[in-house]
Amino acid sequence: MKRIEVIQNVLEANDTIASRNRQLLDRHKVFVINIMSAPGAGKTSLILQTLTRLKGKLDIAVIEGDVASTVDAEKVQGRAKAVVQINTGNMPESCSLMAAMIESALKDMPLDDIDVVLIENVGNLICPAEFTLGEHKRVVISSLPEGDDKPIKYPLIFADADAVIINKMDLLPHVDFNIAAFRRSVTGLNPKVEVFQLSTKTGQGLEGWCSWLLEQVRTNALKR
Ligand code: MG
Repeated sequence: MKRIEVIQNVLEANDTIASRNRQLLDRHKVFVINIMSAPGAGKTSLILQTLTRLKGKLDIAVIEGDVASTVDAEKVQGRAKAVVQINTGNMPESCSLMAAMIESALKDMPLDDIDVVLIENVGNLICPAEFTLGEHKRVVISSLPEGDDKPIKYPLIFADADAVIINKMDLLPHVDFNIAAFRRSVTGLNPKVEVFQLSTKTGQGLEGWCSWLLEQVRTNALKR
């Protein structure tokens, strides 16, 4: 029973900081997307494609969350308006970014010059579902090699998502992934979710994702 209380307190403290983040972001009209997936599903690749395609349309900053290393931040560096790397370390409680980490990352960002912050969360489908960061939208990426059963195995992260991306569509001829079954599981958990099918490698389907993102920013956080 004690342990359950401790977890409850951690989550409540996180929610308090997350709403503080949200107020700060809304004050500066910065739109934030929390991108979550298993390792290797294509979070960094999606961010890189989005930066390339929306260049000149939106000023985008990136927060990179990883247990260790700066390899993803280095890939994004130079293409984004600002990049902040967060290393959570190899602790049991560091399997997700937490609102306090985002709060300190935002302090290093020129918020008045930024339209969007893309947050790459730590790669797993469990912990990031529990911790809100103050983001406006939550996006989950599933890729074809992972199999089509992930919404059944990890329902919470899919149930809370605003958009689900099916990535690596270029591999469809080579893997057993039933797109219709996957989409059925996702909409069963989350009837209003947007689902995109794309390949960050070939670029197919990226326009749909980018127009959705532009539309979200236009309706929710337009600066100009
Ligand atoms: Mg990555």
